[in-house]
Amino acid sequence: QQISGRKTIIANWKMHGNLARNQHLVEKYLDGLQSLHANVVVCVPYPYLAQIQSFLQGTHLAWGAQNVAKFEEGAYTGEVSAEMLRDFGAQYVIIGHSERSTAYCESDENIAEKFMMAKRHGLTPVLCVGETLLEREAGVMERVVGRQLETIVRLFGGEAFADTIVSYEPIWAIGTGLAATAEQAVAMHQFIRDTIAGASKSAAASLKILYGGSVNPQNAIQLLHQKEIDGALVGRCSLEAGQFIKICQSV
Ligand code: PGA
Repeated sequence: QQISGRKTIIANWKMHGNLARNQHLVEKYLDGLQSLHANVVVCVPYPYLAQIQSFLQGTHLAWGAQNVAKFEEGAYTGEVSAEMLRDFGAQYVIIGHSERSTAYCESDENIAEKFMMAKRHGLTPVLCVGETLLEREAGVMERVVGRQLETIVRLFGGEAFADTIVSYEPIWAIGTGLAATAEQAVAMHQFIRDTIAGASKSAAASLKILYGGSVNPQNAIQLLHQKEIDGALVGRCSLEAGQFIKICQSV
């Protein structure tokens, strides 16, 4: 099947790794991903940004972080600014992942401010949106995802979504082994693009919409062949070089 456009595959290492394991993993990535039809991005824990920069600089793989401060700089103990991420060559940053918004009570407004801070500093924000199982069972998943998107539209306008990435991550699919079906993902991706188009047609046209949640080499083939799905955010399977390479090769 012919796919148009280049897909983006993002590895989200979460809070995994150490210097030795990272080196091993990245060397295998580089080995297995020589001729690629996808944009590949590796999002690492903050302390390893310098390490990933030294390995990936000058290669066709890009890198990023998993969070960013909503402030420019100042007395914010424990925070890491967008400018600091840029200093280490990061091009992408994951924003509003449900593992953060639930564990650290990140509000939609907070997430919106981080999204804009990333943009202002030339980072591509990867905004995670998605519903819980209860919300899906209650049939309110579009309302939930719509609210997450509309906070950014309300505060910063639809144009804010130009050249950014939204990742649809149903919370019930993250780390559970139970991915959304291609039909479920496609329906939500259409809803996301339509919602953004309602605020800015041009932003919607330049927006990439990825799917995340238990992506593996088997389901990647189906998911990534949908024209509505512009790529994947991969957690667990990004820690296994062989599996991640297969996912990247399935586009
Ligand atoms: P998973 O994680 O692939 O392990 O489900 C996806 C994510 O949280 O981005």
